[in-house]
Amino acid sequence: MTENSGGFHTIVCMKVVPRPEEVVVDPQTKTLDRAKARSLVNPPDLNALEMALELKEICGGSVSILSMGPPFFEPYLRLAMSLGADRAYLLSDRTFGGADTLATTYTLARGIQKIGKWDLALCGEESSDGATAQVPPGLAEWLDAAQVTYAFQMTPADQGRMRVRREVKGGWEELLVSLPAVVSVKGNVNEPRFIDFDRRRWALNDSPVTVWSAADIGARSDLIGFPGSPTTVAGVRQVGGHERRKQFLEGTPEEIARELARLLKTQAKP
Ligand SMILES: Cc1cc2nc3c(=O)[nH]c(=O)nc-3n(C[C@H](O)[C@H](O)[C@H](O)COP(=O)(O)OP(=O)(O)OC[C@H]3O[C@@H](n4cnc5c(N)ncnc54)[C@H](O)[C@@H]3O)c2cc1C
Repeated sequence: MTENSGGFHTIVCMKVVPRPEEVVVDPQTKTLDRAKARSLVNPPDLNALEMALELKEICGGSVSILSMGPPFFEPYLRLAMSLGADRAYLLSDRTFGGADTLATTYTLARGIQKIGKWDLALCGEESSDGATAQVPPGLAEWLDAAQVTYAFQMTPADQGRMRVRREVKGGWEELLVSLPAVVSVKGNVNEPRFIDFDRRRWALNDSPVTVWSAADIGARSDLIGFPGSPTTVAGVRQVGGHERRKQFLEGTPEEIARELARLLKTQAKP
């Protein structure tokens, strides 16, 4: 269950995100201050993992998790292994900090090239914090691989190809995709499986989480982190939700109905 034993190999890109309701913006650095928010695995990434595990049940082979982030991401990757992944890779280095999507995709691509043979790289459709949805197509670009976004169904087709159904405006389309390919998976398209408690002990204690630095993946310093990010977050401000005006009507049902009709009439445009 450790080294990539050959066979069909799916890599699932997994991001750990702050709980949206607990996100705090650091007024100085204008970046998200994660320390103040509890974290969770980006929900669509669990749908991507579930899709990878279902494909493994059909095609055999193995599933790896790949993440770029600070050391505290590790326990979340172990969670993914207790769900069924075979191994995990964490790209962690202070020099990765402040990365925009160009630098993030370059770093993840270097990680995949270091891992070696791969057939499918699955991502969630978007993260719940940056929510740019730019990483999957950007990753495919660096890897010079085919790509499909917003997939909700994937089945093996003939040799070296996948039949993928993806959501498009007003419907869906079916594509035959040559592997290797990068595919982003729609959120909520499947039910992520429960933790396998037999695996859990292995996942928490013995499962292999390989941690690589910028040097380990041979990353160019001008293409990672702040130096590698043409996009800078110029300003972040908390926008309060606007409170909808509400009025509680009291009285008998007839009185309420009359008052409602009167109010609607006053609101109705002449
Ligand atoms: C509020 C905010 C706004 C931002 N705006 C921009 C912007 O406009 N332009 C820009 O370039 N950057 C922006 N960023 C930075 C951007 O969030 C990071 O570059 C981030 O690492 C990747 O972008 P994303 O979160 O939008 O990913 P998305 O493209 O939305 O993520 C899609 C999928 O890619 C995979 N993925 C994403 N990040 C990782 C990771 N670190 N490790 C493993 N898999 C991953 C996951 O499977 C995820 O589901 C912003 C960040 C924040 C917090």
